[in-house]
Amino acid sequence: MTRGVDFLLRKNGVDSISGTARLVSPNAVDVTGPDGQNSRIAARNIIIATGARPRSIPPLPIDGERIITSRESIVAEDVPDSIAIVGGGAIGVEFAYIYRMYGAEVTVIELLPHIVPNEDEEISQQLERAFNRHGVKLVTGAGVTDAQADAEGVTLTIDKDGITETARFDKVLVAIGVLPNTEDLGLETVGVATERGYVVIDDKMATNVPGIYAVGDVTGKLALAHVASAQGVTAVESIAGEETQPLNYTFMPRATYCHPQVASFGLTEAQAIAQGYDVKIGRFNVQASGKAVAMGENDGMVKLVIDANYGEILGGHMCGPEVTELLAELQMTHLLEGTTLELGWAVHAHPSVAEMVHEAALDAEGRALHM
Ligand SMILES: Cc1cc2nc3c(=O)[nH]c(=O)nc-3n(C[C@H](O)[C@H](O)[C@H](O)COP(=O)(O)OP(=O)(O)OC[C@H]3O[C@@H](n4cnc5c(N)ncnc54)[C@H](O)[C@@H]3O)c2cc1C
Repeated sequence: MTRGVDFLLRKNGVDSISGTARLVSPNAVDVTGPDGQNSRIAARNIIIATGARPRSIPPLPIDGERIITSRESIVAEDVPDSIAIVGGGAIGVEFAYIYRMYGAEVTVIELLPHIVPNEDEEISQQLERAFNRHGVKLVTGAGVTDAQADAEGVTLTIDKDGITETARFDKVLVAIGVLPNTEDLGLETVGVATERGYVVIDDKMATNVPGIYAVGDVTGKLALAHVASAQGVTAVESIAGEETQPLNYTFMPRATYCHPQVASFGLTEAQAIAQGYDVKIGRFNVQASGKAVAMGENDGMVKLVIDANYGEILGGHMCGPEVTELLAELQMTHLLEGTTLELGWAVHAHPSVAEMVHEAALDAEGRALHM
């Protein structure tokens, strides 16, 4: 734990103990400290927040040297001449951008047809165009079937469209998702239910065992820091007997800090259609934003997915400068059951990147001014 976090905890009357914890009963945890000593802590309530760790697959055994994960990348002090990033999700593209900016030859290998495959397809395509321009090589619809590491690098075997090829890289970063930290936690001892390894929770973050709660990545809901925090608040409010607001994971803000940034919340166009909505779309191209151009940012778009019958904002999908900052306005409009009509009525300061949301809302109403 960092000193800053430790200070904040102490300031708020929270004790912290270093060690590995294990549930021994619904009201007790054993902690093995760094010195190997055991201590038992009794508690009326227990919150499990053990997080998750990077996942790998048998063809890509992590050795921490040539085949690495985000953990080793974060603390790395050198930049490889070339790196393959297996997995084009949020973490994969963030590291692709970072390594490319440091001068590495970067290849992203993604199994699905597009990078950031959980995003709206148009946003994925925007990011692909930007990455292509910045010299990041993208190999999509391709799987890695073998990796041979030696002292100088790694030879990857890549299958794409039925054709098998090998390619050589200095390093390989595996970014294909996470696994929950639920082993050796004593969950079976106390009977806490899990599903695919993740702790099962209800709306109040309660597990099936009275008094035991779980929050964060270990619950497998949405592996984001602010989601973990929101779950933590809900769990504590539940324990304190306060009223809690159920979290709607679909409408949580999602941010990917590559360049250009990607930010979204709610349903993609494809998801909204699949759920039976009659949708209308509002778009705005970043190139037409005076503020974005002044910032030297030309890549990206804002796309709003709207329920055509009621004007409800079903989803916001953005790629461009500081777009994560624009999620709050969309979320608040959604929370207050506002529509693109109100978003269009609200006068936005000029020049500002927020105007992009305003223009996309106007576009959904067929009243765009600057496109
Ligand atoms: C490279 C990377 C970039 C990310 N970027 C973002 C971002 O920009 N925005 C965002 O919102 N999210 C981001 N995330 C996700 C975010 O880090 C996680 O969602 C968040 O940390 C989850 O919090 P948590 O408390 O559930 O787990 P963690 O933060 O993982 O904390 C769990 C802690 O529990 C400890 N622990 C595990 N088992 C035990 C045990 N038996 N006893 C005692 N302690 C134990 C672990 O050592 C760890 O310290 C990123 C993740 C990665 C890997």
